[in-house]
Amino acid sequence: MTTSIAVSPFDDRSAVFAGADVCREASLSLPEGVSRPRFEDDIWDFTHVIGLPAQMARCTRRFDFAAITDPRWRLVAKELVLAMLAPRHPAVIPLPRAYRTALHLTSCAGRLGELTRFLTWLGSQGVASLEQIDTRLCEAYLAHRRYVLDEHGTVVGEQSHGTRRAAAQIVVDLVGYRELFTADRVSADLRPWGGATASAVAEMPCGRGQNKTPPVEDSILQPMLAAALYLVTALGPHAVELAREVREADLTSSCKTEGLRQGGPAPTAALTRLLAEYERTCTPLPMLADHHIAGRLADGWSGDDPLLSVATGVLARQAGSSQFWSRWFTALRGPLEATIAAVGVEKAFAREPAGVLAADGASSLPWTIPLHRLQAVALVGIVRTAAITVLATVSGMRASELMELRVGCRRPPEEPVPGFTRFRIASKVVKGQPLGGTDDEWVVIEPVYRAVELAEQLHEDPQDDALLFGRFAFDVRYRWFRNWVNSRAGQRLGLVPIPDGPVNLRMLRRTLALEMAYRPGGVLATKIHLKHIAVATSEGYVSRPGGAQAELLAEVNKHESDRNLNLVLAEFRNYQQGILPAGPGARSLTEFFASIDEKLDPAAAAAPRIQRNDRDVLNLLTKRAKVLHLGPANYCWFTDPSRALCLKLAGTPTADRPLVGMCDSARCPQATHHPCHRPVWSEHADRTKTFIGQLGTTRKTERTRLQADFDRALRVVAEIDAASTSMSEESA
Ligand code: SF4
Repeated sequence: MTTSIAVSPFDDRSAVFAGADVCREASLSLPEGVSRPRFEDDIWDFTHVIGLPAQMARCTRRFDFAAITDPRWRLVAKELVLAMLAPRHPAVIPLPRAYRTALHLTSCAGRLGELTRFLTWLGSQGVASLEQIDTRLCEAYLAHRRYVLDEHGTVVGEQSHGTRRAAAQIVVDLVGYRELFTADRVSADLRPWGGATASAVAEMPCGRGQNKTPPVEDSILQPMLAAALYLVTALGPHAVELAREVREADLTSSCKTEGLRQGGPAPTAALTRLLAEYERTCTPLPMLADHHIAGRLADGWSGDDPLLSVATGVLARQAGSSQFWSRWFTALRGPLEATIAAVGVEKAFAREPAGVLAADGASSLPWTIPLHRLQAVALVGIVRTAAITVLATVSGMRASELMELRVGCRRPPEEPVPGFTRFRIASKVVKGQPLGGTDDEWVVIEPVYRAVELAEQLHEDPQDDALLFGRFAFDVRYRWFRNWVNSRAGQRLGLVPIPDGPVNLRMLRRTLALEMAYRPGGVLATKIHLKHIAVATSEGYVSRPGGAQAELLAEVNKHESDRNLNLVLAEFRNYQQGILPAGPGARSLTEFFASIDEKLDPAAAAAPRIQRNDRDVLNLLTKRAKVLHLGPANYCWFTDPSRALCLKLAGTPTADRPLVGMCDSARCPQATHHPCHRPVWSEHADRTKTFIGQLGTTRKTERTRLQADFDRALRVVAEIDAASTSMSEESA
């Protein structure tokens, strides 16, 4: 039974969720003191919900219903979203098509986005009420979302299956939850796409095929991983020092430095003291970045001006002012030019870089050239990306798991066996887990452990438990990393250029899976390491044809053929003892046994070699064993599909296996009955006889049918008895 709430005159209040605390209804926990979204709010802010994955973007944590302009439809959207978040609400439980499990906030954000799009589109079509939605409008919206048009309205492409499914799903949801809506609802007889699921409407691929994520090409993987490892091991410690330098400089030179004087007269005394200090320590003045120099030239500065490349703003901040005003040059140009003449101008960071061995091992050279601040920050970022690349490539962790890593995630190394060290890092499995994820650990090799250590050292605020990377876009980071490796800076260090080509975290995970799975015991190792729920997932992931399922099937087939061979051998021995098969196929089988027996008979054997042992007999019987199928009351010797009665009855005469469930062994020329089948037929005869005795006199048709059955069972029993005794008597 469903509870249907009548559409009431609209007063901006929900008939079921009015005044509801959204987080309480959805069982989402918030820290104390954080404002809780109410149902009536137009923005539901879930930013502070406890346990949200780091991967979840901030924008998807705020549900903005204000984008839906019609207040009735806004109420519909709120009711739909809350119903999806709270499937156990008393008003939602009775809905037959409602979800029974709460949707994740990310999914709800996606649904709200699509619903907003749909409602906006409806408005543009002149639709004033959801009741006006018919199948034509549903089709039109699907087409609207499906096709990509150019500025002339010509179709130039198609959206993904996922986009199409989202478009169909939102209409299906409006139908599924229609009884819940207070202000407006679709008509009761709307059955979009004939009641098909959104996936079917979107023609989603079935997902049973192979994993579509390709591994990273070897020609890319090799130089990429080599460069990443080089950056982590050779440049990493210097990058840590550089990052520290930048942080320290920011304390005194950044525009955000606290207590800076805004404007006012030139701080001549302070700047003069500062310049004297530069001269005393023989430190070159900080150089302006190239784009700022270009700006000065555009503003009319002379290219020969000695102050052109001096970062005067940095000097001003070091002297306690927020910036260097142009009017100050009158008083300070002289001292500045004198200092430049004494110490020169140089980029502010990595002025005396340490030496490192080049990546090709050919030479030793400075690890970097002097850098501007932005270049230094970028280089630190490149090294951090190298650490992420090593971590992702060699550990195979998912993006969600990498983003959950925290400072202090490295577990102390263990030495379970002397000489072997085990390194572990801790994170959370998010995929398929309840909100908050599940704590887990990954066993990794030392380079991964060291990459995490480097990332911790590069962290701007390495408080314990702070997110190590937080949310990051690997695609963009990787592009920057590759550009740097291929640039003059990377080539200077002897790094091999990385060819163009796609690399993302999924591809890296798949590459590792393939590498692991094709080693002995690799599928199971992959399953455990990649934390797949089932081995079948790992098998699909690694496209391994010899996986556990295939192995199980091969094992079953092996047992089956062994069993068949033993059965054929037993029947052959029976034949030799004079116990013959019965049934329509008995003659053919007896002839076959006779031909084998002849081959084994020393007197009949033409060749001097005599085959007597079981192995030789089995070799002769193997072919026949391959066509043996076991029925409940007979053996089926499936040598010729065209003679199989079951296949004739089923109308599939060319099938390659018999339909044992349809077997009529008393009539099929491929069936035989043996003494082991006698109890089945005998019991069948007894039971049928009992049934016949219980039949009333009026049930003649039934009696005739059962009598034929009974006679057949008796005939088969008699044939089995006759066949198993006749020859024995003859031999006696
Ligand atoms: S009818 Fe029975 S014996 Fe004949 S082929 Fe089919 S399964 Fe085999």
